[in-house]
Amino acid sequence: ENKDQKFVYDFTEGNKDLKDLLGGKGANLAEMTNLGLPVPPGFTITTEACKVYLDSGEEPAALRDEVSAHLDALEQGMGKKLGQADNPLLVSVRSGAKFSMPGMMDTVLNIGLSDVSVEGLAKQAGDERFAWDSYRRLIQMFGKTVLGVDGELFEDALEAAKDAKKVSVDTDLDAADWKKLVKQFKKIVKGETGRDFPQDPREQMDLAVRAVFDSWNTDRAKLYRRQERIPGDLGTAVNVCSMVFGNLGPDSGTGVAFTRDPASGHQGVYGDYLQNAQGEDVVAGIRNTVPLAELESIDKKSYDQLMQIMETLETHYKDLCDIEFTIERGQLWMLQTRVGKRTAGAAFRIATQLVDQGLIDEAEALQRVTGAQLAQLMFPRFDESAKVEKIGRGIAASPGAAVGKAVFDSYTAVKWSRSGEKVILIRRETNPDDLDGMIAAEGILTSRGGKTSHAAVVARGMGKTCVCGAEELEVDTKRRRMTVNGTVVEEGDVVSIDGSTGKVYLGEVPVVPSPVVEYFEGRMHAGADDADELVAAVHRIMAYADRVRRLRVRANADNAEDALRARRFGAQGIGLCRTEHMFLGERREMVEKLILADTDDERETALEALLPLQKKDFVELFEAMDGLPVTVRLLDPPLHEFLPDITELSVRVALAEARKDANENDLRLLQAVHRLHEQNPMLGLRGVRLGLVIPGLFTMQVRAIAEAAAERKNAKGDPRAEIMIPLVGTVQELEIVREEAEQVIAEVEARTGIELKLALGTMIELPRAALTAGQIAEAAEFFSFGTNDLTQTVWGFSRDDVEASFFTAYLEKGIFGVSPFETIDKDGVGSLVRNAVAAGRATRPDLKLGVCGEHGGDPESVHFFHEVGLDYVSCSPFRIPVARLEAGRAAA
Ligand code: ADP
Ligand code: MG
Ligand code: MG
Repeated sequence: ENKDQKFVYDFTEGNKDLKDLLGGKGANLAEMTNLGLPVPPGFTITTEACKVYLDSGEEPAALRDEVSAHLDALEQGMGKKLGQADNPLLVSVRSGAKFSMPGMMDTVLNIGLSDVSVEGLAKQAGDERFAWDSYRRLIQMFGKTVLGVDGELFEDALEAAKDAKKVSVDTDLDAADWKKLVKQFKKIVKGETGRDFPQDPREQMDLAVRAVFDSWNTDRAKLYRRQERIPGDLGTAVNVCSMVFGNLGPDSGTGVAFTRDPASGHQGVYGDYLQNAQGEDVVAGIRNTVPLAELESIDKKSYDQLMQIMETLETHYKDLCDIEFTIERGQLWMLQTRVGKRTAGAAFRIATQLVDQGLIDEAEALQRVTGAQLAQLMFPRFDESAKVEKIGRGIAASPGAAVGKAVFDSYTAVKWSRSGEKVILIRRETNPDDLDGMIAAEGILTSRGGKTSHAAVVARGMGKTCVCGAEELEVDTKRRRMTVNGTVVEEGDVVSIDGSTGKVYLGEVPVVPSPVVEYFEGRMHAGADDADELVAAVHRIMAYADRVRRLRVRANADNAEDALRARRFGAQGIGLCRTEHMFLGERREMVEKLILADTDDERETALEALLPLQKKDFVELFEAMDGLPVTVRLLDPPLHEFLPDITELSVRVALAEARKDANENDLRLLQAVHRLHEQNPMLGLRGVRLGLVIPGLFTMQVRAIAEAAAERKNAKGDPRAEIMIPLVGTVQELEIVREEAEQVIAEVEARTGIELKLALGTMIELPRAALTAGQIAEAAEFFSFGTNDLTQTVWGFSRDDVEASFFTAYLEKGIFGVSPFETIDKDGVGSLVRNAVAAGRATRPDLKLGVCGEHGGDPESVHFFHEVGLDYVSCSPFRIPVARLEAGRAAA
């Protein structure tokens, strides 16, 4: 803790670039303040203060005085003191981390009210009902978030009061009702916590600030951060903001708005408004909101002002913004803005729209979309022409086509999904307690709430299908069923929901490919009709990415069909053709023969049988990729993968022996299986080791490649084969294989009279190879980093074993933010890659460098490979567009 450190910033002191320090909410409140927009005055306690608190369990020593000084200034400006008896200043205490974490950390409104000041507020406002409503809200929110009282106790008491009075909405309760409820609420607090609701306004504020700090580490917050890959040590800022009141009568209200439609990107008036309401009422769905456009007839002046502010914000932030506002007796106040979340499709459209409006350039447009969003757009959708029973319709809140069994609570959603069922979580509305269930579900369906409801916001953030506010649905959680226009849907019935149209179906709707995939496949052309606003936007963004990217993108493909698809998706070659996939099926037996061969003759016969098959595979592949490089990896997997299962075979032989009719072949096979059985095949006889101990295996493969290339050249083709040796640990291994290979190639060249120009290179997938890359480069014309194996061997764990066993615990404990098999571990594995690149190029400046692990299609890893200077990444055909886009984003 640094003595001169400043822990509190007035809204006038900050700006939007200080999100690390002030959190997103605080930074943007400051930005709006400085833009001259009507923001209620206040100040922000920094994330640094939170970090000190989280580390030491105590607020920084200087914080109290600093808060006092800012509170004094606020009180002076407002001309009233916090909680003052006759005319109280009230504030909200609001959390706000760098990244918005919807619903994670609760805000407490109306701090400063007490048994005394509530009377003062009533007099001042000339409205008793309002004052007591505000006071009960304070006790309710404070009780729940700060004191940890079960929120349902308050809600039940409120329901009971409404029932007793036979009214259905909270605005029908009068001052006397609220007074009674305040009494009850205070009793609940006393009963649950053993202490009275604090009457000292400053104590209220300090406790609330501390509660916000504490909320950083709730289980829910941690789970959300893990999901969203938000680091766990950022801490949250706390905003103290003077209150404005939307619950002062019909000329007051509160609302949310988007500067454009977060689902389509179209410009217009999007949002919800609720008269005579405060804070969370809009998103909580306690009463039905009206579309924002209706505000024009309710309060034209505020509406016009809001429209103007929205334009100011869009031009200022050069992006879609979402907004929270309140109108207090005809006066508009801005309570929050941020660059708004949007669907994947809208992200692409908005990026190109903003380019057309001249607000951003192409490089910036690339930063406005992500590979993850593109991947989402490549999901299949429902077949519109299928005969299905549409039972309802809600708001299209988050796109995708989800099918699953109906469940009505999060517990069941989690339980069923663990046992492999696909489920749709159906709720009246969701709240943060539903997060586990939402993660477990294929999709989320709610009967209440708009595009800004909890369900909608969280689902969009997770890229999960969501339909919300389907009002015809009567959800009966207790009886685990819902009724929709007369149809009863029980728990376990299959439903389908379409997050792009809002439609809800009974039964399973068949799915069709996405238009974006159709476009990549060349079956749809950008710009034809409207489907294709989206396709046109994707087309443009991909063109920007291709123009600027330095990394080339290749595909991992083992056959002509995959290769052709990859080519349509933009692959610039094959980075990995796994030859073991060519030895499956009926050919497996031929390999078995090869392994079991006792004599040279037997072995050669087996090899001769394999050669033409291999050659044919390669001819097809080279033809499909004519003119583009194709890296063929020689046989890699452990030998026993080609032999029968040891247990099965042992049983068979034992049974046969008991019957006294054991056959010679089975006995031989069993012996071989025993001989070749390995405790740890991943680190056993595989890759180049195999090539060195089974004479003729690698040379047969090289011959097949060389002959196939010669055949293609004869046919006027342009084959560009590269031969890759797997699992090399030392240059000596490579030299031996290389010599043999060169001999075979020379033979084929001599016999055919064709110069083949085959490149020979190696995988770098063992730490020793990476550490001796300088030597290895002497015998290799290219390196391809096999980051799957490299990750396994650097960490010393086997992927197949550990992902299911301890990775969850590791992720929970924050040891990794994400599995190192998904995103490259930059510090460990990445540093080996970086050094091997440098050492390899030092030996051989024109060394070609690529990566062919699954990381090649992972957005974050692509950025890393760009940065360390690889020439290409190679990934599965379906990830190619993602890799192209991310390579462009990395270079832009
Ligand atoms: P969240 O992060 O959940 O959006 P907020 O801090 O924005 O939480 O607050 C929750 C609700 O309370 C919002 O609707 C916001 O507009 C409202 N609110 C917050 N501070 C004030 C205030 N000073 N006056 C009136 N309403 C407020
Ligand atoms: Mg908010
Ligand atoms: Mg490997």
